[in-house]
Amino acid sequence: MFNALMVEKDDEGKTSASVQKIDLDRLPDGDVTVAVEYSTVNYKDGLCIGPGGGLVRNYPHVPGIDFAGTVEASDDARYKAGDKVVLTGWRVGEVHWGGYSQKARVKADWLVPLPDGLDTRKAMAVGTAGFTAMLAVMALEDHGIKDGPVLVTGAAGGVGSVATAILANLGHEVAGVTGRPDTEDYLKSLGATQIVAREELNETTKRPLEAEVWGGCVDAVGGDMLARVLGQMKYGASVSAVGLAGGAALPATVIPFLLRGVNLLGIDSVMQPYDNRVRAWARIAKDLPMDKLEAMVQPAVLSDLPALGRDILKGQVKGRVVVDVNA
Ligand code: NDP
Repeated sequence: MFNALMVEKDDEGKTSASVQKIDLDRLPDGDVTVAVEYSTVNYKDGLCIGPGGGLVRNYPHVPGIDFAGTVEASDDARYKAGDKVVLTGWRVGEVHWGGYSQKARVKADWLVPLPDGLDTRKAMAVGTAGFTAMLAVMALEDHGIKDGPVLVTGAAGGVGSVATAILANLGHEVAGVTGRPDTEDYLKSLGATQIVAREELNETTKRPLEAEVWGGCVDAVGGDMLARVLGQMKYGASVSAVGLAGGAALPATVIPFLLRGVNLLGIDSVMQPYDNRVRAWARIAKDLPMDKLEAMVQPAVLSDLPALGRDILKGQVKGRVVVDVNA
């Protein structure tokens, strides 16, 4: 028996989440059984724990879109008992039972060996949000970061915090957009040199182009803010579009693409091929300062998750929540 956060749906379609004791034989099929040590709280997890079940495809369900732990048993030659592994993506925690559990059984293809320099707790301090932030930075690098500050929207959130710390550590000037003025000191401690108030960029404008300001952008917010930012990018600069915390609609024109050669790069962490995942985790171990990562962490246990799921959907979580599933 092991503990897990189970989300159930009643006959009226109402969902509820509670910590339950579960038999090992109820785990879904997979080649590798992992003794999970840590998981995290991402925006998607908030949707999956919350009323209506968000992205959950089958009930009862164990959410948790990422985890890190130690292999307990493996039918796949790539992994043996005792190996440290990390998982993000592949719709784990949505379609397949996820990381809010002391045990997980998954396909070997979905795992990545923990890189040197990261333990399981640090790997989950990074988690899906931080992994995605790294993918976003790598995409900007592939297209060339221009002179001028790099903008990070939703800066105090999970993706934004890690993107800010990585970009600053790589020597870029970072401007963080936040709707929470009380996070200014926190963002500066991660390396942001400029703080932009959310209202400044949420105001819509009829002008499709404004002064060229940003040498690159990691955007976790989408919506009106992304539309506005596109018109402020430097010639040939790129925006890595990661999320939609501020809305899915994009009320933009094609003008920034036509007249300034702006690139809008879509970032998807879920279906990343194995080699890309390994490359991104190695870059995280190398380019993310561990003292800054520690400053982002808020610890939690399984029973905290229903409340934390609500908080992240309201944009009230700062940095990264690390869930110790054995506490
Ligand atoms: P968080 O909730 O931790 O951060 C989002 C941040 O966005 C908030 O902290 C807040 O930052 C800001 N924000 C929230 N609501 C609004 C709003 N209405 N207008 C403007 N800003 C707002 O979430 P994550 O960082 O984990 O994820 C961010 C987004 O990225 C989500 O949409 C998520 O689904 C997506 N995502 C996508 C992935 C991919 O593979 N493409 C992977 C991981 C996440 P502040 O308080 O500083 O303003």
